Amino acid sequence: MTAAPLADGETGFDRTLRFALPDLNARGRIVRLGPVLDEILAAHAYPAAIRHLLAEALTLTALLGALLKGGNEDGDDSQLTMQAQTEAGVVEWLVCDYRGGELRGYVRHDPERLAALGANPTLFALFGRGYLGITFDIAGAGKRYQGIVPLEGETLAAACESYFQQSEQVPTLIRVGVRSGPGGCIAGGLLLQHLAEGEEGRERLHVRLDHPQWEHVAALGGSIAHDELVDPALGLESIVWRLFHEEPEIRVEPGPALMRGCRCSIAHYRDIIARFPPAEREAMRGDDGVIAVDCAFCSKVFPIVLE
Ligand SMILES: [Zn+2]
Repeated sequence: MTAAPLADGETGFDRTLRFALPDLNARGRIVRLGPVLDEILAAHAYPAAIRHLLAEALTLTALLGALLKGGNEDGDDSQLTMQAQTEAGVVEWLVCDYRGGELRGYVRHDPERLAALGANPTLFALFGRGYLGITFDIAGAGKRYQGIVPLEGETLAAACESYFQQSEQVPTLIRVGVRSGPGGCIAGGLLLQHLAEGEEGRERLHVRLDHPQWEHVAALGGSIAHDELVDPALGLESIVWRLFHEEPEIRVEPGPALMRGCRCSIAHYRDIIARFPPAEREAMRGDDGVIAVDCAFCSKVFPIVLE
């Protein structure tokens, strides 16, 4: 593609876009989230700082999830899970996951200690000495890739970059923007990766972090502004075009649509509880004989009645 700009018929929210720059051995993902964030955030009465943190984490989860091959409808059960935790942080636990375009996530925190931090606490103030764990479960292949990196730097996005650098030796650039307003939350994210052997990623031998092609790609991608990421009038295809229109070839294809999704259901929990030994099941029952199971993602309690 050289002459015409990318078609920008589709703006809108809760979308992912996959693209590749074959001549530069790079691939990318762009996401824009709107209503899906509001839906997930609405399950809990989070303070502003936690809403912002979870919106950033969900945007990263969508970006990393969009690296998985599956779409919405093809029954691929591959999953990406992101967890952040600390020993004594104000944020005790953050978890998000992605499967086939479905996102969910929640944060457990100490409201009193959070209030003492004031507005816009740093990542270090929220987590203290924390760790970010990222797990790719590849369905079918039965493979699991897992890495844990310290929560250093200023943002969760920076910690994700170091995951790819340290655990996978893949130079990666990630930018995330989040804007909260009275109309709801809007977020956008860009992920760029250098693949020494192209999109399919054969054995990545001799990847050097100072690869000149990668420096060029990272300089272009890094020029994206926060306002561009969160501007609903700027389509994802337009962002790719703005950043890379001088490159000889850009391949673009739509990725999965994003939606809130959770696996919680009475049938799901009944299956899980049925695997416990009878004595333990008895101990779970309340006075009314019902076992109450709580889904922390949805903030819902499911009454499970066993035979
Ligand atoms: Zn749930």
